[in-house]
Amino acid sequence: MIHQLTIPTPYAVGDVNAFLVKGDALTLVDAGPRTKEAYGVLENQLGELGVRMTDIEQVLLTHHHPDHSGWTDAFPNAVLLGHEYNNNWLTRDGGFIERHDRFYMDRFVEQGVPEQYLGLVKKMKRAAELMGQRRLDRILTEGDELPGLPGWTALETLGHAQSHLSFWNPGKQVLIGGDLLLSKVSSNPLIEPPLSPDEERPKTLLQYNRSLERLLELPVGTVFSGHGDPVTDVHPLIRQRLEKQHERAMKVHGMLADGPKSVFELTTQLFPKAYQRELGLTLSETLGQMDYLMEQGLIKRNRDDRGIDRYEQS
Ligand SMILES: [Zn+2]
Repeated sequence: MIHQLTIPTPYAVGDVNAFLVKGDALTLVDAGPRTKEAYGVLENQLGELGVRMTDIEQVLLTHHHPDHSGWTDAFPNAVLLGHEYNNNWLTRDGGFIERHDRFYMDRFVEQGVPEQYLGLVKKMKRAAELMGQRRLDRILTEGDELPGLPGWTALETLGHAQSHLSFWNPGKQVLIGGDLLLSKVSSNPLIEPPLSPDEERPKTLLQYNRSLERLLELPVGTVFSGHGDPVTDVHPLIRQRLEKQHERAMKVHGMLADGPKSVFELTTQLFPKAYQRELGLTLSETLGQMDYLMEQGLIKRNRDDRGIDRYEQS
């Protein structure tokens, strides 16, 4: 039995969902943002289901973003499980933070972001205040059976986050999908540093598309999502999302008709109002389209002597 809990967040996305799953182990999937308000709502909604915070035996994370990973330490009797990548954020290890800042600084240079915006790199971690601070007790990887939940498996569904897992129950044809597929909006393929320092920048939109395409191979009846109502027209919605993304990419391709442009230049044209407020999100969207068009062989990239990448139609 799956119960959806709906928790307020301070983010533009609005409410976030968490799920109570009553298996052999009483399980909570995701834990809201670390705000007082979210804690109260979580406690109340669990209470309405006859569950106290101390009753929860395990917390599973779909990904590390703060609206999902906040109250990981509010359940004194629960073990915490998720993708290995979560630990980078749950522990905020100094080495990772340094690598994180360097990673974004390198990306900003490649993308041609003007100097006045470079200070934003440090602010990109502010969200971490709303994340929990507790290391995972157990790491889940692709194909793992979920402990305490017979019939459920973990799927690695990267793209929106480098820690993203979905939880699949083939018997019930139900997926708890985190932010993989949302009913109302498309999911942002956020640019994030790779799990291991020697890996290249993950091409997050391509990862994301592959994760969606993977669901097309599975008989998914319902996706319980991180935001909004459960999705029941799963395959049609996935096809629609993939088509829309292709259309957006082709629009960007058209914007290169009058010559080479950097990711930053394209972003200011694509999101003239939003880019200053949401620079990280909007650059991720644009870079995603560049990765897609490169993969399709429709554009090429040249790096100038200042290290700025410019893309042009091929
Ligand atoms: Zn989310």
